[in-house]
Amino acid sequence: MTGNKNEELDLYVVAQNQFDRALAWVDDLKEGMIDYLKEPKRTTHVHFPVYMDDDSVCMFHGFRVLHNNARGPGKGGIRFHPAVDEHEVCALAAFMTWKTAIADVPFGGAKGGVVCDTKKLSRAEKRRIARRFVIALDDEIGPHTDIPAPDMYTDQETMAWIYDTFDVMHPGEGNRAVVTGKPIELGGSLGRDEATARGCLYATEQLLTHDLVPGLDKLEGASVVIQGCGNAGGTALRLYHEAGAKVIAISDSSGGILAPDGLDPKAVLAFKREHGTVVGLPDTTTITNEELLQTKCDILIPAAMENQIREDNAGGVKAKLIVEAANGPTTPRADAILDANGIIVLPDICANAGGVVVSYFEWVQNLENQQWKLDKVNEMLKERMTRATDTIIERWQDIRDKERPPHGKPTLRDAALVTAVCRVAKVTMQRDIWM
Ligand code: NAD
Repeated sequence: MTGNKNEELDLYVVAQNQFDRALAWVDDLKEGMIDYLKEPKRTTHVHFPVYMDDDSVCMFHGFRVLHNNARGPGKGGIRFHPAVDEHEVCALAAFMTWKTAIADVPFGGAKGGVVCDTKKLSRAEKRRIARRFVIALDDEIGPHTDIPAPDMYTDQETMAWIYDTFDVMHPGEGNRAVVTGKPIELGGSLGRDEATARGCLYATEQLLTHDLVPGLDKLEGASVVIQGCGNAGGTALRLYHEAGAKVIAISDSSGGILAPDGLDPKAVLAFKREHGTVVGLPDTTTITNEELLQTKCDILIPAAMENQIREDNAGGVKAKLIVEAANGPTTPRADAILDANGIIVLPDICANAGGVVVSYFEWVQNLENQQWKLDKVNEMLKERMTRATDTIIERWQDIRDKERPPHGKPTLRDAALVTAVCRVAKVTMQRDIWM
């Protein structure tokens, strides 16, 4: 990742700065409460050994952070990535606290990660890492305490291994609700695999009904650019296309492709499956990820990783609306530049909440031994995403004229954080957690 060397790119510092800034629009929060909301409740480090395919043994380092559980058990994905560290996981766990509050699901915020490069691991090595990680975490996770889900470079299969390992450790306890994002046959919910992107779609459609984006009031015919072609980005490509938008560019970690007349999702996804990248798809122009972010379009969807839109490149963004499918893709300095340029940002803690919403549905189905129909899941997802989007926009309309030096006027991200912070603070006070 490049960037201006003066810009703070530590995701935890970014998350804390966003929180501090939003407090400018929150009244009556005691200092102790602010500290409580800001800091993670528990941070667990584990080191564990794994047999590699060549018979060597490697040590791996993993984390699980429970940021806040005032509103319910911790909830958040597990990511496998070579660059994952404690700060990143703490920040992502905090985002989950705010996200579950905005989506109004009865969970707190948590996140986990293992430092590893899945591109260099066999399936069997990845499986052993997942299993040893769960064993090392011991009772830190559980159906009523902290419930993992997929994130970058983990998927349904990884969730199946996590469930199975936990179930072996706790026999006879009906453990399906310990993890969400499982295969359907193991208690996964219909619709969970595409929930993050579908939630983004519903949130985008709802935002466009509010007339906030000049010259853009519907998805039909809108040009869309997507960074990332995994669970969030690849599914967004298909769903935005089905909704009538024209996706003109998409990328992955190897680079991007551009087709001004619109990409065919089936062809892109089939090519990616076969070649491991979208780059090289016939009848497209190869571009870099930097060029992709600066491509003129109506809607830009960062769906890869954090810190992609920064001080050094935000000025070149030519979208009217940014929908953050990824967590933390925009830095605070980039936020200021985008705001000054009149570009609206639908923030991650609202835009990508669809994943945790359907994870909540999966958890409920597991506890009740039910399997809901796909239509029911999508209808309930739409209801929640619509309400969440309306809530943050209404909050923004309430506070938009309140100038708070040195921050200026609030953005949608500020309004989303204010909504979340007030909800978590209210429950904390009702529980009177100080005893
Ligand atoms: P994934 O592993 O399925 O896909 C990640 C994609 O990003 C891949 O296509 C990869 O090639 C691409 N990528 C990686 N590094 C890149 C780079 N430097 N430049 C461009 N592309 C790059 O992961 P995912 O589950 O789709 O998650 C993507 C983002 O969405 C993450 O920020 C994650 O936290 C967030 N998110 C995911 C979910 C979910 O349910 N999967 C829910 C909420 C938020």
